[in-house]
Amino acid sequence: MRSSSWGLDSTAVHAGREDLAGLGVHAPPIDLSTTNPLPDIDRGGDSYESMATGGRPLPDGGFVYARLWNPTVARFESALAELEHADAAVAFASGMAAVTAAVLAATSAGRGRHIVAVRPLYGGTDHLLASGLLGTEISYCDEGDVAATVRRDTALVIIETPANPTLELVDIAAVVAQSDGVPVLVDNTFATPVLQNPLDLGAAMSLHSATKYIGGHGDAIAGVVACSEEWAEALRRVRAVTGGILHPLGAYLLHRGIATLPLRVRAQQSSAQRVAQWLRTHPSVSDVYYPGLDGDPRGLLHRQMRGTGAMIAIRLRGGFAAASSVTTGVRLFTHAVSLGGIDSLIQHPAALTHRPVAADAKPSDDIVRLSIGLEDTDDLIADLAQALESFPAPAEPDSREPLATTAAR
Ligand code: PLP
Repeated sequence: MRSSSWGLDSTAVHAGREDLAGLGVHAPPIDLSTTNPLPDIDRGGDSYESMATGGRPLPDGGFVYARLWNPTVARFESALAELEHADAAVAFASGMAAVTAAVLAATSAGRGRHIVAVRPLYGGTDHLLASGLLGTEISYCDEGDVAATVRRDTALVIIETPANPTLELVDIAAVVAQSDGVPVLVDNTFATPVLQNPLDLGAAMSLHSATKYIGGHGDAIAGVVACSEEWAEALRRVRAVTGGILHPLGAYLLHRGIATLPLRVRAQQSSAQRVAQWLRTHPSVSDVYYPGLDGDPRGLLHRQMRGTGAMIAIRLRGGFAAASSVTTGVRLFTHAVSLGGIDSLIQHPAALTHRPVAADAKPSDDIVRLSIGLEDTDDLIADLAQALESFPAPAEPDSREPLATTAAR
């Protein structure tokens, strides 16, 4: 029995499980069927039609085919929607499949094919938009220039906050206010629904690379978009046609991950806060990018977030050589892309996650990004200390090298 008065932790543990007792089970069942027996041609056909056009299966018509609908995926979607204060959620085979579907859903709504985006964005998203692969035209702008950049044919405004990799915060409500009715998509991967609910601030869609915190264990690639039922229909229509649905085994793992999401995010965040403070005092580190480290000058943490998260980026005084030395010198951190899991990761955005980004928007190559996991904070600090020692701070801080000459490394 659901209770609207439940807090976040109770919701995370119980969402999407309402019918389990009635089924006589305690763990959610996994339905791996790729196809489903049809009651008869008419009812099966009507159910197919409903799902292929973005609706739900008809009660007497069945699920028909797992590219259209899968009950294990739907269970995960309803749990995520609850955490995001959304009517619905639509799950995809990856975060990039979710971004693709959101762009296609927005551009097929009839307004036009122009997209406005505020940088920085995850490198894959940036590249997808910049490439025009989906037949879109992109205008990148600063947060304050959204109103001036939105046009009559703008289909979607895309922002990421906190942004990958350097944790800039974007004022969601201010961007919505500037967007003149154009839907705003917020990539909420870094914050998770534990720390931020973009729909409450007027965004149309809250997108996650569920590969990250939602799954939390580095063993499932997935994407999900939380939104209104109307947007969910548009997204499911794209998903049915393009075939980007999440696999049910992934959905099961993600649903299980949601139960511990608040606990993990809070524990990882409290460790990250200590690590960020410590890094700030280290002579080899010239800048630490972590929300709230310099207070909350714009009031954004207070207005739109419930915490500072567990992602950190740092700029090293020793430039690319120091970044290279630190990323290979760690022993407890794993040198690997991705983020948001139980174990701590370190990676070099310019060479990896943000490699396809245009040179003038690429993170500088003295920056490394840390995803803080659930290890003992003292061990993480000790590991970073020994890795930073492998490349002592130069006597004089290096001036930043021009990106064009360093990107090929
Ligand atoms: N959005 C953000 C903020 C990401 O960090 C990523 C991947 O790193 C994506 C989207 C893409 O997600 P996926 O790798 O699951 O396709």
